Amino acid sequence: MSISDNVRQVQSIMSAHERETKPTLIAVTKSVGVDVANALYVEGIRDFGENRPDSLLEKVGVMPTDARFHFIGTLQTRKVRQIIDHVAAIHSLDRLSLASEIDKRANRVVDCFVQVNTSGEDSKHGLEIEEVIPFIENCKQYSHIRIIGLMTMAPLTEEESILRDTFRRLRVARDEVMAKAYEHAPCTELSMGMSNDYPIAIEEGASFVRIGTVLVQ
Ligand SMILES: *Cc1c(COP(=O)(O)O)cnc(C)c1O
Repeated sequence: MSISDNVRQVQSIMSAHERETKPTLIAVTKSVGVDVANALYVEGIRDFGENRPDSLLEKVGVMPTDARFHFIGTLQTRKVRQIIDHVAAIHSLDRLSLASEIDKRANRVVDCFVQVNTSGEDSKHGLEIEEVIPFIENCKQYSHIRIIGLMTMAPLTEEESILRDTFRRLRVARDEVMAKAYEHAPCTELSMGMSNDYPIAIEEGASFVRIGTVLVQ
């Protein structure tokens, strides 16, 4: 299939599973070059996900200026400075030292998602669900950080009940934060759903899906 077919297929599956909100499709281009990213742009994609500063900056430098770049991977504190002016959002805020560095380097308010480890796997990054509210309260001291939502990576499984349960737990956690009505953390968004599981994530309320493999293969 072509990139064009891939985009159409993903968009039609997204529509079929949509509930109240229409999620934003972030095309994860971490494993492909500028040529493929540009082909996705031509198909109407404007949101791109990258997990390495070098790969993000390479694309920022050559793609049209209305392309938005989302940082979706583990972000080393020392790399914040390189990317901070070029990201629409950081989906992987998972520690105070990172929040502090973003706050220090940013000249504007930066939209961030708190990454949550919903799988219980040690290898997955992110906060435990019960750490989310204390962490967000701690972030209040950083005036350049706005927490717009929660992000997770579901466990790699085909079992629908496990995936659905994971996404529901993230939604419940999001609702709890939202109910606090923190000024610095409106937390209205849910970044969840990848190639393997995005239809379920959308049914469970995803507002951003991060899709790589099925778009670029
Ligand atoms: C690679 C990656 C994705 C996309 O995964 P696919 O399975 O290729 O769709 C989404 N989110 C994060 C954080 C990733 O690292």
